[in-house]
Amino acid sequence: MKSRRIASALIGLLCAVGASVTSAAEPKVYWTTSGFFGPFNIQGLIPTYPTARDITIPVSMWILDHPKGLVVFDTGNNVAVGDGGCKTHWAAGNCDFLKPSQKREDVIDMQLKKLGYSVDKVKAVVHSHSHLDHIGNIEMFPNAIHLIQKKELYQGWWPEKFQGRALNGSFVQADIDGTRDFNFVELEGDYDIFGDGSMMILSTPGHTLGHQSMKVKTAGKTIVITQDAVWMKENLEGYAAGLNYSVQDYFKSLNRLKAMRDLEGAEILMAHDGDQYKDKGGRWIK
Ligand SMILES: [Zn+2]
Repeated sequence: MKSRRIASALIGLLCAVGASVTSAAEPKVYWTTSGFFGPFNIQGLIPTYPTARDITIPVSMWILDHPKGLVVFDTGNNVAVGDGGCKTHWAAGNCDFLKPSQKREDVIDMQLKKLGYSVDKVKAVVHSHSHLDHIGNIEMFPNAIHLIQKKELYQGWWPEKFQGRALNGSFVQADIDGTRDFNFVELEGDYDIFGDGSMMILSTPGHTLGHQSMKVKTAGKTIVITQDAVWMKENLEGYAAGLNYSVQDYFKSLNRLKAMRDLEGAEILMAHDGDQYKDKGGRWIK
């Protein structure tokens, strides 16, 4: 009897400890956007999609407040792209097709400020990949630790010929020119940012050579932040994105993330889905 009481007290204690550890390590996640792209025909991005339809899409960036430090996942379009300056920084063709609507207040430094943070407080920046709408403001974070796949760094500096090597193509050289001495952690696969399983980097190549996504435990649930491994829900339905380093790897990564939805019950949040952003963006994830 006595030993049973001791055992149940111990179990109670362990549960209490477990509960407090879980809630202490749970990061808060804010979803924001570096302005919007569009409107343009969805078939411009997903050529196999059967019906033409105009879409306007977010340029997703994420602010993750973990007890051990503040993290930013992607830094959006370069600040120069905003307020009509697009053609000073991007190729005219990209400006004309994407039609970025970014204002100064949409840029990551101002988004951090709006939430009471500053760029100096950011401990780590995770880069999904080195395309123009994701790594644009890396230079605003000279003191942070930068988490990127090693292959993606190679590709950012020297893209494959078929992906275009123009200095202001999809990989805009001016975005990363000043970052040679930055503190990069050159990843080769998945990575547990704070060592507690609450914020995992997932290797999801295909869209680019070293693309990566994130799995985060927040607000009592698991979310998978795909960035460009899944642009929008039409990709989940099986219509491939029209811009890929490797279509084979793209589908492998897509299936990996879908399995997390189907087996773990994770919620998939996508980089460029206008409807999903309207529903859940511009606020803390609940
Ligand atoms: Zn993108």
